[in-house]
Formats: sequence, C-alpha cells, structure tokens
Amino acid sequence: MAKAKPWLEPHPHGLYVRPADLWIDPSRPVERAAVTHGHADHARSGHHAVFATPETLAIMALRYGVDAAASRNAAFPYGDGFERGGVRFSFHPAGHVLGSAQIAMEYRGERIVVTGDYKRRPDPTCAPFEVVPCDIFITEATFGLPVFRHPPTEGEIAKLLAAVRAEPDRSVLVGAYALGKAQRVIAELRAAGWTAPVYIHGALEKMCQLYAVHGVDLGDLRLVGESDKAEMAGQIVLAPPSALNDRWSRRLPDPVTPMASGWMRVRQRARQRMVELPLVISDHADWDELTATIAEVNPQESWITHGSEEGLLRWCEMTQRKARALHLVGRDVEDEGGEEEA
Ligand SMILES: [Zn+2]
Ligand SMILES: [Zn+2]
Repeated sequence: MAKAKPWLEPHPHGLYVRPADLWIDPSRPVERAAVTHGHADHARSGHHAVFATPETLAIMALRYGVDAAASRNAAFPYGDGFERGGVRFSFHPAGHVLGSAQIAMEYRGERIVVTGDYKRRPDPTCAPFEVVPCDIFITEATFGLPVFRHPPTEGEIAKLLAAVRAEPDRSVLVGAYALGKAQRVIAELRAAGWTAPVYIHGALEKMCQLYAVHGVDLGDLRLVGESDKAEMAGQIVLAPPSALNDRWSRRLPDPVTPMASGWMRVRQRARQRMVELPLVISDHADWDELTATIAEVNPQESWITHGSEEGLLRWCEMTQRKARALHLVGRDVEDEGGEEEA
C-alpha cells in the first residue's frame, strides 16, 4: 500500500485537506466543504461554508436550502478556483450530472485530482469530463468490475421509443433518479427526435426547472397531476424509482415500466424492482471507461473509492500501476432508499 500523503488525508467520512482545513464531499457536517456534485452521497446539508460550481450550489440550495448568496459560500465555474492555506483548488468538468466537478488541488508542487462521480460518454445535460494531469488520481469505482460494460446510450433510447410505439394505448413510465438521470433521459429523447410532451411526476419538476434555468432545454414538460389520463396514452412519463410501483402510477393508462440505471445490467436488480424494460443508462464510467481514464491520466498513484474498489485495484496491480483502495463510508450508490443515481 502507498503511504498516505500528509496534506490530504482519507478519513472514513471524507477527504481532509489539512493545510486548507477543508473537507471534500464529507458525509457529516463540517466547517468548510468542497463539494463535487449535488447527489446526496456527496452533498450533505449542514456545512458552514460550501465551495462548489454555481450549478452544484444551486442544486444544494434547492435540496437543502443552502444560501447560495451567503458570502461564506462560494461558487466557481469550471476552470476557476481559489487558494486556501497554500493549496490551490480548481474545479473541472466530470461529465456526471449538471455542475458535477473534479476537484484539483495543488500544494508544494504536487497535484491531486478527486474525480467525484464521473463518466466519459457524451451527455447533453452537462459538460464533458476533462482529463486533468496529476500525481495522485482519486477515482470513483461504482462499476469497477469487468462485468460492467454499459451499452451505447442511443440503443437504449431506441428501445424506449420502440416500446412507446408498440403500445399506443399505454403510457411508458420510466423510473429515473430525480437529479441527473431524469433530465438526461429527457434530453436524450429530444436528441433522438422525440418532440411530444414528456409527462413528469411532481417530484421531478423543480430539478427539471433548475436544469432549464442553467441552459439545458428539456422541451415541453407537463405534470402528470395536471394532465388527463387519456392524454398520456402512447406517451412517455418519468417518475422517481420509488413511484414506479406505487399508487401514484394508477393515474396512468396501464403503464409499461422501464427503469433507467447502470444497475439494470444486473438482471436480479431489474427483477427485484419489477421492471419490465431495463434500460442500461448510467451516469458513471463503466469498467472500460474507468481503466481507460486511469491509463489516460497516467498518475503516479491512483486512489480508488466509491464502489467496487477491489476490482479496479487488481487491474492497477496487474498493469503495474501504484494504487490503493480508500474505504470511505456513506458512499453507497443506492443509499437513502435508492433515491440516488447510478
Ligand atoms: Zn453522483
Ligand atoms: Zn456518488
């Protein structure tokens, strides 16, 4: 195992940047937190001061009532950053969800990059991942096993559109997480030429509006609660996964229920959720993207966290790359009742 660098300390509840007295994505309230993105396993409520991209700060304002205008908090667009305690921090696109950032830190000539969650595929709702050269690369590993290879997104969207066309009397109710996945599915549908209204569960409304305010055009969205049942036949409806099998879905005409998640690759998970049409659409790098990214960044050392750490660690060992697994808590991709991402 590599020896821990004294200025950045992995703790079970987050990464602590000692000279700056600042935490990255801490899982408990702290004095100063730099936050990679708005998902609940990275962005927690209760920090005194938050440093993040403007979009992430806006998401935290929406979700937790963080006062984005308060002077103790600070927003940094991509490429921008700040200095504290001799450490230079900067934010770079991670391609995961709107506003998601890698955080680069430079201290006494050494550069460390924390990816947060990331993916490499194009996503119409966020800026593409940027390769930031560094000495230590701290990568997520949600899908860090060779069994995880996500199929092309266009094919999954085509499957969804085929299901809609095959069932003109039913609505197709897609289960998609409220931050990121829902907006990406809508934007991918628009890119594929679907111009009809997309009907959404009320729990998705505010986040979709936030995306629109930040320049992501999602087209004509309508609330299920304000729409006629008949009008939604042959149409696409989006709801958080928790609503898929609940009473709420009785408002819809005989819904077909796809679920959009990287985990849909795992048949058992799809069955557990009673998903009829599993769509493998993920906001995380798959195995090939994780390994290709480490090879491309080519750091002196990789630190692996957040998911299947051992699989990626083994790959690093087999390819003669120095690596270690961090064991941070509160980073389960499906924590909080499956309300988060993947
Ligand atoms: Zn995330
Ligand atoms: Zn995460």
